[in-house]
Amino acid sequence: MHTQLNKMQALPPICLDRRLERLQALYQTIQQNKQNIINAINSDYGHRAAGETLLAEVLVNLEDIKHTIKHLPRWAKADQWTADWKFWPSRCAIVPEAKGVVGIMAPWNYPFNLVAGPLTAAIAAGNRVMVKPSEVTPKTAELIQQLLAEVFTDDEVHVVLGDVDVADQFSRLPFDHLLFTGSTRVGKIIMRNAADNLTPVTLELGGKSPVLIDRNYSLDKAAKSIAKGKWFNAGQTCIAPDYVLIEADRIEALIAALKKHTIDAYPSIDINNDDFSCVVNTQHFERLQGLLKQVPNNQIIDLYPDYQNQVNRMAPVIVNQPDQQSKLMQEEIFGPILPIVAVNDLSDAIDYINRGDKPLTLYLYSNNRTTIRRVKQQTSSGSLAVNETLVHFAQQRLPFGGIGASGMGSYHGHQGFVTMSHMKSVYYQSRLNGNDLVRAPFTQLKKKII
Ligand code: NAD
Repeated sequence: MHTQLNKMQALPPICLDRRLERLQALYQTIQQNKQNIINAINSDYGHRAAGETLLAEVLVNLEDIKHTIKHLPRWAKADQWTADWKFWPSRCAIVPEAKGVVGIMAPWNYPFNLVAGPLTAAIAAGNRVMVKPSEVTPKTAELIQQLLAEVFTDDEVHVVLGDVDVADQFSRLPFDHLLFTGSTRVGKIIMRNAADNLTPVTLELGGKSPVLIDRNYSLDKAAKSIAKGKWFNAGQTCIAPDYVLIEADRIEALIAALKKHTIDAYPSIDINNDDFSCVVNTQHFERLQGLLKQVPNNQIIDLYPDYQNQVNRMAPVIVNQPDQQSKLMQEEIFGPILPIVAVNDLSDAIDYINRGDKPLTLYLYSNNRTTIRRVKQQTSSGSLAVNETLVHFAQQRLPFGGIGASGMGSYHGHQGFVTMSHMKSVYYQSRLNGNDLVRAPFTQLKKKII
């Protein structure tokens, strides 16, 4: 790995024409391999809804690449202006330059998207890239290696396969930038490893993303949107709603609405329903069952009471007012379990959110401008999504990233280009002006200022 990195670091950045051409090739390769991507992830998961893979791992990336190709010639241009009047007519410029070789480490929950997205940004900025896909989804990792070898030369993009030990060694390489997507726990290890090389990091982490439903907001609308975001990929989404905060007297009606919209979307959870995904593996399935074991039976609302769990296929469950000290309320759930927490009012909900780690996304359901402004100003999160789940991830003009325990730095669209670039400051001294202001003796200057 080290030799490969040294070889790549000795090479110049990828020129703009080549970047545009390779991004176009990447676009075509993804288009042509839609079915292979669906099949690989499906095989890694036991079953992954084809519609979810198409949306989250094909269409989102195709749109991202298209947007990048369209705007890259402008993003890559230097921004130039005439210096401040004291230095006039000298000039200043900000010149985006490739950082060098970027490392990308990806998790298993969107194993293709979370390689292709950061890769698009890194290539757009002219970097060479080394990729370490997740070992939890090995078929997808192999496909990524094969497809990227078709699009890029090995000294442009190199894919490393392997387990956690390989991931550890990978994160210790002296990259010029490292973008890691994964858990907060491993994010801390990655940052420590990168610190030894002073490698700058972007950490795209997880945590508990709360949902807050305002007093007057339609429960039917909120439930429809929450069900969509929570059960997508069986809750294994970094920005999945983790739990809901709502006044106690509205909980019963919310549960009824959630039931209705869940069953509308997934009439059955059976293996014959292609639209519902499995939990990725037995270890995670057992982790989720373990969370439920700590909850008293009378708090568990099974939305499919007749369904018998099949291998790693877990039916959606609501938990009504769980103990705040339970693991369910202390850890990121990352599966099809939705706790509902009673609050007294908006202030109580805001206090609750502010007592926890800063979330990756905060969801707010409200049509009241004062409430929206208050939540925006009085809470801190990577992103705030009002009246809808998940789709903020697909907005090319919105930077995506966390804050505090949910991450640092961001990417997507232009922000991705900026993250993967060094914005070099350049000053051009004019031939007409000698800058006598900063040269000794300072007699005149002192007379003017003192
Ligand atoms: P993870 O942290 O276990 O693994 C992520 C990557 O880290 C993998 O490539 C793995 O090989 C590597 N890794 C694991 N242990 C390591 C170690 N000890 N040293 C070095 N590398 C190691 O995360 P996961 O289980 O694959 O993914 C789920 C987590 O990712 C959730 O917390 C989720 O919220 C988060 N996530 C965040 C985003 C985001 O954009 N913010 C997106 C998807 C997932």
